[in-house]
Amino acid sequence: MSRLKVMGAYLGRVIRGLLAPGKFEGDYDRQAMERALQLVVLEGLNQAVLALGLMFVFLAYTHYQAVPTVLFPDKIEIPMMAVNGISGLILIGLRIWTSRRSLSPEYANTTIGLVGLLVAINILVHVYLSLDPMLSIYMVLLFLGSGFFFLSTPWYVALTLFTGGVWFLISLFRAPQTPTWILLRYVLGISAVIGYIVHATRVRTYRRLEIMRQEQVRQQEELKRRAIQLQTLIQVAQNVSSILDLDKVLNEIAELVKERFGYYFVGIFLLDESGNYMVARAGTGSAGRWLVEQGFKLKVGEEGIIGWVAQHRRTACVNDVTLDPRYVSVDIISNTRSELVLPLEVGTNLLGVLDVQSERAQAFSEDDVRVFESLADQVAIAIQNAQIYSGERSRRLLSEMLYEVSRALSQTLDLNVVLKLVLDSLARIVPFDRGSLMLQEGNDLVIVAARGFPPGSNPTQIRVAIKSDDVYQTLRRSNAPLIVPDVSKRPDWQHVPGLPLARSWMGVPLIQANNEIIGMLSLTRETPTPFTEEQAALATAFASQAAIALRNAQLYDQLARAYEQLERLDRTKSDFITVASHELRTPITILRGFSQILTKNEKIKSDPTLLEMAEGIYDGAIRLHEIVNSMLDMAKIDSNMLQLRFVPTAVGSLLKTTAETFAQAIKERKQTLELESVPEGLIIEGDPEALAKVLYHLTLNAIKYTPDGGRITLGARALAPGEQGFADGGVEIWVRDTGIGIAPQYQSLIFTKFYQTGEVALHSSGKTKFKGGGPGLGLAIAKGIVDAHGGKLRVESPGYDEVTCPGSTFYVCLPQRPASKTLETSAGAGQ
Ligand code: ADP
Repeated sequence: MSRLKVMGAYLGRVIRGLLAPGKFEGDYDRQAMERALQLVVLEGLNQAVLALGLMFVFLAYTHYQAVPTVLFPDKIEIPMMAVNGISGLILIGLRIWTSRRSLSPEYANTTIGLVGLLVAINILVHVYLSLDPMLSIYMVLLFLGSGFFFLSTPWYVALTLFTGGVWFLISLFRAPQTPTWILLRYVLGISAVIGYIVHATRVRTYRRLEIMRQEQVRQQEELKRRAIQLQTLIQVAQNVSSILDLDKVLNEIAELVKERFGYYFVGIFLLDESGNYMVARAGTGSAGRWLVEQGFKLKVGEEGIIGWVAQHRRTACVNDVTLDPRYVSVDIISNTRSELVLPLEVGTNLLGVLDVQSERAQAFSEDDVRVFESLADQVAIAIQNAQIYSGERSRRLLSEMLYEVSRALSQTLDLNVVLKLVLDSLARIVPFDRGSLMLQEGNDLVIVAARGFPPGSNPTQIRVAIKSDDVYQTLRRSNAPLIVPDVSKRPDWQHVPGLPLARSWMGVPLIQANNEIIGMLSLTRETPTPFTEEQAALATAFASQAAIALRNAQLYDQLARAYEQLERLDRTKSDFITVASHELRTPITILRGFSQILTKNEKIKSDPTLLEMAEGIYDGAIRLHEIVNSMLDMAKIDSNMLQLRFVPTAVGSLLKTTAETFAQAIKERKQTLELESVPEGLIIEGDPEALAKVLYHLTLNAIKYTPDGGRITLGARALAPGEQGFADGGVEIWVRDTGIGIAPQYQSLIFTKFYQTGEVALHSSGKTKFKGGGPGLGLAIAKGIVDAHGGKLRVESPGYDEVTCPGSTFYVCLPQRPASKTLETSAGAGQ
């Protein structure tokens, strides 16, 4: 039952996809999508137009030759000469025109539609005049060909209906009602349907790939931005805690933020002593200097967004300052469009604000605000540290310690290392017996880092339940360090069994963004020597370092998750290619199967005309299959989805298999194929199937671009270690021909996809015919595969000449084994 339902849903999806191949829900850039499709059409257009143009001129010429006499002109040859000739000239003219002033992509669909119409008219006129059913085979090719090349459904449907309709009228009213004509109606109907399926599948494939490409680009950009934010945060953390000169630290932070994020202006304002004004203390560029020198200030609660933030102690993110009544414009920074102002607070104590301005409206996302809030916390701590430690001696000692911790903070993302260093450094300036960093987890405190605990006590296993009025609650309420001179006098003191008795104690809250207290730094002495206020201040500086480390670890975690998502997306794409290949191959396989059955049918075999037609369809289907396979290979290479299986591969047998594959084609073209100098036992590590594909495309080209009677040579030699830059050596394989050669200026271009040099013969021509063009993917696929092996593909040819035939040689150089694949996870994610 449920199976039926699943199948029903699947069929429904397939049918919907066929009826409206261009329709896709979801969030993507529709304009970019249309443009991408138009570019695909445009890529194939130029070659198709030239090829068809030349073909028509050629046809016009053959008709001209067939005109018996001028006085008694054949009824068909003269008009056909005219129609073919005019079409050829129009197409060649169009090709010349597009090569001078390139065609705008928005006309691509119309142009290819009109070209299709022109071809259709030629075929129809010919059929109409000659009434030769054989000519209808061109209609099959037209349907399948335009199904492949058209990416606009209305154009495809219009062309098919028009051509099919006119043909049908001719067959009904003009042609004799022979079985051939009647059978042809079915054949054409079927090929129109298959052409449509190919069309719909192709449109959907391109659209889905484009949607995925867009999504990936978006995610990558977002990720890059986040990575920069995180780096800046870490760098700021290092600066703020190592420099105790307030003005210097403020200016450096402002410049760093402006430069890294590309904002228009960054400033820091501090509360003056009266508590009534926010005074500019640091700012970027000449505007910043000017504001500081002028002593620029804004009244708290009255002037500007800055005044508002100082009063309400809340972040203000203004998307468009021109619409905000609070905004006060300053001449020297007049291009501001959006502004982000954050309070700088330690505990409940407001120190100032951080002001970031952008020339773009809506420049700040929610993510940005979160990052800046964490930055503001660090800046606030820096200001406080600088204000507390004015004494020269403690300043030097402290700055040394803090510098060390902050260096660790910027060099390692390992939370344990940083937290341990925090405790170790603190111990050098504040003596204690036991110290720990405790985080709140539900109703418990757990130890995440410890120092001085007796061996075997396993501090990270210790959990302390939070009680209603214990020291931790007191800390949370006051938001400040707590000193307990003698714990034996506190009835609520919780002694952890197994640890030596504590006498004096000090706790410092770990404060994070939004003044949230996430835990505490706990220091214990086993002697009744109370901690002093100054030591509490020192410990506070280290506690804030620990809080920053914890915060960065959190941000880092988010980043790692984002990478994971990106990897998932990649996997989806690879799944999709598998599905698409299946969808495309199915209709073609059907076409192949049925046409093969037709060629075996006794009735058809007895009629040479029908047999020729059936064989034509069969050959066309095989060719289509190969083209689709090539396209999928290309899609895999393009999206780095080529999966290679490296196994020891014998080069000699690769060459032998290639030679056997082409034996028939070589015979037909009266060429010779020679295997030369393949040393025995030449074995490399590679993917034999993929490498066979490389040799297949190279040899196919060699046969194609060599005139009848020419010679193709395959050979290989071992490469010594160091040769071609391969440390372990490898192998060089060559495919040499005595063909038309390649002009020097094209020798690097031919490896790009869809590239073809010079004139191109008709696309549907036989695949090993002299100069018969393919889709222009062979060399691009070969290069993709060779690259994936860490090898090199190159060509040598004295030049292009169809008379002297200088020939070309393609060299495939492969390393003995592929270079060890280092996964490129940028920013060290997933370590
Ligand atoms: P195609 O499907 O057109 O053969 P390829 O990517 O295989 O596409 O080749 C690109 C172009 O490189 C060809 O159109 C042809 O002009 C040129 N080319 C490739 N191999 C040879 C060769 N052996 N001799 C001359 N020209 C070649």
